[in-house]
Amino acid sequence: MEFGECSSGSNSSSNEVWAKLVPSDSRYSDVEIRSNEMVICSEITSSSLEKHDWCKITRNSDQSSAMMQNKSSNTILVDEATVLNEDDVVINCGSEIIPGPARQGYLSYRFKLMPRESFTRWLKVCIDAEHAKCSICLNVWHDVVTVAPCLHNFCNGCFSEWLRRSQERHASVLCPQCRAVVQFAGRNHFLRNIEEDVLQADSSLKRSDEEITLLDSYASIKSNLEKSIVERGHTQFWMLKMKLQISHVLNVVIVSISFTITCL
Ligand SMILES: [Zn+2]
Ligand SMILES: [Zn+2]
Repeated sequence: MEFGECSSGSNSSSNEVWAKLVPSDSRYSDVEIRSNEMVICSEITSSSLEKHDWCKITRNSDQSSAMMQNKSSNTILVDEATVLNEDDVVINCGSEIIPGPARQGYLSYRFKLMPRESFTRWLKVCIDAEHAKCSICLNVWHDVVTVAPCLHNFCNGCFSEWLRRSQERHASVLCPQCRAVVQFAGRNHFLRNIEEDVLQADSSLKRSDEEITLLDSYASIKSNLEKSIVERGHTQFWMLKMKLQISHVLNVVIVSISFTITCL
């Protein structure tokens, strides 16, 4: 498998598709970006097929990133950060862009740089699909998340369900693969590109739409690898305990605090 979307290269004709916005919902089509500066007009919500101008994407001279300017009246989310009207932000191959102030109701697009024949430096990576599989469901990752510090990878839905069950029963969350204590978990945009390329190379590894919808319904990891799962875990742990044993709230808070101090 050849893999070079994020490499740098030389200039090429202005008519080529140099980047795309790929919607996470396959019912919508990719937005192809041809000119070095282009106002994007596409669907922005899943409830309407109407297309709107909502951002301007300008190719950077390094050929491996672009500037996105918010051209809508909404706040736009780029890799979880908010971008206000008329503000600019740098986007890279794999950046997630949501043309609205919240995830719910708005489509999610992934910015993807196209590989080009004129690249002088290709990065060739051969990947055994076995190395792109989730050890919980044994399928190729879907919406891959990485846990830290062990850096094992799972489907977001599979790990979220594991996380939910672990937090119901235990004070700490263990990695399903190696049993190390998980301190952080986050979506991994780089591996997400690999996940998509593996499925494109061998479509027999794809799961049915029904399986994907079910898996997505479990997914609870929304951020990149930056949020402490210890904090999340303890918020949820605390809330669950409060519901079940209101008289023991004080003890649980003390346990939470001491555990957080130990782990941070
Ligand atoms: Zn899985
Ligand atoms: Zn692990």
